[in-house]
Amino acid sequence: METRTSNAALREYLDAIHEKELKDVLIKLELLDAIENGEMNCFICEKTVRLNNIGIIFVQDGEFKFLCDSKNCYWEFMRRRGSQE
Ligand SMILES: [Zn+2]
Repeated sequence: METRTSNAALREYLDAIHEKELKDVLIKLELLDAIENGEMNCFICEKTVRLNNIGIIFVQDGEFKFLCDSKNCYWEFMRRRGSQE
């Protein structure tokens, strides 16, 4: 089923980033405080992104942006990226 494939792909991606490694990355990017203070929102659904629901970190217009861990946001993000190029 298509849904199962999508979930598996997303889970595989999320598992690739261990929470400790994620924190290290956020500290390097000086974004950990903003995340812990609930100041960052999902680029797609605008839900507050925290350590336990970060899906993707990416750069747009020289700024770091986040996606939450919703697979709908992930696929919407991929769709928008695809249509830009
Ligand atoms: Zn979202």
